[in-house]
Amino acid sequence: MFFKDIFPEMTTAKRSLHPVKIQETFRETVLVEDIPEGGLHRAYDDMPGLFADTDDCKAVSTVAGTAFLQKIRGGVYLQGEVAAEIGLICDRCLTDFNRNIRIKFSYILLGRPVSEIKEQIELKDEDMEISFFDGIEVPLADLFREQILLQIPMKHLCREDCRGLCPICGADLNREKCACHSRKPENPFAVLKKISVSGKQPIK
Ligand SMILES: [Zn+2]
Ligand SMILES: [Zn+2]
Repeated sequence: MFFKDIFPEMTTAKRSLHPVKIQETFRETVLVEDIPEGGLHRAYDDMPGLFADTDDCKAVSTVAGTAFLQKIRGGVYLQGEVAAEIGLICDRCLTDFNRNIRIKFSYILLGRPVSEIKEQIELKDEDMEISFFDGIEVPLADLFREQILLQIPMKHLCREDCRGLCPICGADLNREKCACHSRKPENPFAVLKKISVSGKQPIK
């Protein structure tokens, strides 16, 4: 998209000085004191700018989520769900690709040292995270963000069998075969094929 498509009025002689609307970054937090006895539901259609500070991934569409917060002794119990489409760059072939993420999660957020509270926690849910906060304000946006990032593997691959780029000419080997590709480097395990096993059963 070009600048003139976004701000068509800027390209005409009669410029208007409409203030440019800058999308606000989602930094939602919930004060513990605002959580009623019965718990608090929150739902968000979009969380703009959630990955603004993250170099290697971005949200390519809206990030939607819900949260239910309940006060517990010493902190907050949070159940949430978040859905996003994340744009990544393949570590092997350097092309952009998107990954859909949808995750349900729960946290026990403790505002006090663990020792004081440990005995009251019964961990039933394997996916439950125990985390700490200042005891006053639940950093909801950070928790949504953390959950999405946890779903992204360390190695970003556009597909499991991505062939990557030719280290010699840089060709994308998913799309084309280059000339240098025929000169394959010696497989370090090739030598194993030359070893003959003299009729014995492999050791089990
Ligand atoms: Zn790839
Ligand atoms: Zn090549």
